[in-house]
Amino acid sequence: MVVKKTEKEKIKKITKEPKKKTGKEETKLKVGKSKPEMKIFNTLTRKVEEIKPIKKGEIGMYSCGPTVYGRAHVGNMRAYIFADTLRRVLEYYGYKVKHVMNITDVGHLTSDADSGEDKMQKSAREERLSAWDISKKYTDIFFQDEKELNILKPQIVCNATDHIKEQIELIKSLEKKGYTYRTSDGIYFDTAKFKKYGDLAKLNIEGLQAGKRIDVGEKKNKTDFALWKFSGENEKRDMEWESPWGKGFPGWHIECSAMSMKYLGKNFDIHTGGIDHIPIHHTNEIAQSESSTGNKFVNYWVHSEFLVLGEQEKMSKSLGNVINLDTIKEKGFTAMDYRYLCLGVQYRKRLIFGEEVLKSAANSMQRLKNKIIEIKEDNPKIIELNKSSPESKKYLEEFKESVFNDLNTPKALAVMWNMLGDNKVNNSEKYSLLLNFDRVLGLQMDKLRKEEIKVDDKLQELLKKREEFRKLKKWQEADKIRDEILAKGYTILDTNEGPKLENLGK
Ligand code: AMP
Ligand code: ZN
Repeated sequence: MVVKKTEKEKIKKITKEPKKKTGKEETKLKVGKSKPEMKIFNTLTRKVEEIKPIKKGEIGMYSCGPTVYGRAHVGNMRAYIFADTLRRVLEYYGYKVKHVMNITDVGHLTSDADSGEDKMQKSAREERLSAWDISKKYTDIFFQDEKELNILKPQIVCNATDHIKEQIELIKSLEKKGYTYRTSDGIYFDTAKFKKYGDLAKLNIEGLQAGKRIDVGEKKNKTDFALWKFSGENEKRDMEWESPWGKGFPGWHIECSAMSMKYLGKNFDIHTGGIDHIPIHHTNEIAQSESSTGNKFVNYWVHSEFLVLGEQEKMSKSLGNVINLDTIKEKGFTAMDYRYLCLGVQYRKRLIFGEEVLKSAANSMQRLKNKIIEIKEDNPKIIELNKSSPESKKYLEEFKESVFNDLNTPKALAVMWNMLGDNKVNNSEKYSLLLNFDRVLGLQMDKLRKEEIKVDDKLQELLKKREEFRKLKKWQEADKIRDEILAKGYTILDTNEGPKLENLGK
């Protein structure tokens, strides 16, 4: 803080004599008093901005959910861990968050730009199931994965197919205002009529339109997109509905406009998604919503970066290089190892995925577990953090500052490790701080404890044999068995109640 000269002089006047040094000054840590601002990078302005909610104390947040035509891969799950972390941070800050997420179960075509087959129908054909069964199958798996990753379920989860009426109404309102036109395969939005088209992505519209003669087909402009698609004459679709324009199904973008505005209002606070949604999906959501309502649609657009394999390679189903949660579990990693890995990279940075980085995250989780076991042996109490030591308060402030500053989770993790290594913070404070931090990190720290070891028959037999050798003072044989048990990942603790096994972890 810059103190003006006059104020400095005032201070001097009331300070009679400089206090004698006691040597304890260093321990008097400065603890921030005012609440830090909650800031986030807004794609709309390309700036880190303070979040100012529309309604005091409340946040409306919409996240583009999965297209349930196949199993989500770990790249997709990064986007949901990010949205979950944002929601947790907002709640940690004190906001009441209404989180809405859609399930895309119709209308997302194999190309985001309205060409190709409906992903759901394609998958149904390949798996010889109906599109409805495909939707149920992959929605269930998705929520199972979310649960394992400790992602909080949004208060409202809405399927596109349950909101056909709302989507038709929205298209009708656009039609009434003159934003639509008809081609032989559907009803399209005329992007030339929306002056701000492409602002979010800073699209070079002129450049884009210049190429329109190449593959624009019946569309008026290259960037125009389908609001409603007609079922083809010979097409056999599992999902189709009557509409004022003919039998068919909604385009992908209209579902997110219709459902977000239904549950959060015409203008709401935050909309999330992966960065790939910026140039098409979110650009089109803005065009439809704002043309229909005449209002600003969303105040903060927040996008997460990709998970890539190697320097550039994007993980995607179409490239055939996908890894899902089961794949990493088969390799001996846990869902929490993956969550830790995601937290270790700020959401706006690319996450370069591979076994090495996953191993390092798993090691950190093991270290965290060991630390918690050690702390728990001291029977820590849950204490009120505002009554704790200045050191402990300082870590709390640092943690808050990190997560409230554009979700700097890597820094928050570093604060946690510094706190755990600081012997000026006692174990009750450490444990209480960890549980507090975990409201944001979601690493299920309360569940990290010594594993109860289920001793299988083979281990039981080995343990018994070792005891027999020990009774006979056959130390060499007993040690050989101990080594065998060690190789299986356990160590033997000889206690008063007899030998016990302890898991050495991974
Ligand atoms: P989809 O199910 O294809 O609609 O995608 C679901 C979410 O995953 C969207 O928010 C995408 O932006 C995001 N996404 C897709 N691929 C990746 C990736 N490789 N890394 C991170 N996020 C991704
Ligand atoms: Zn969406």
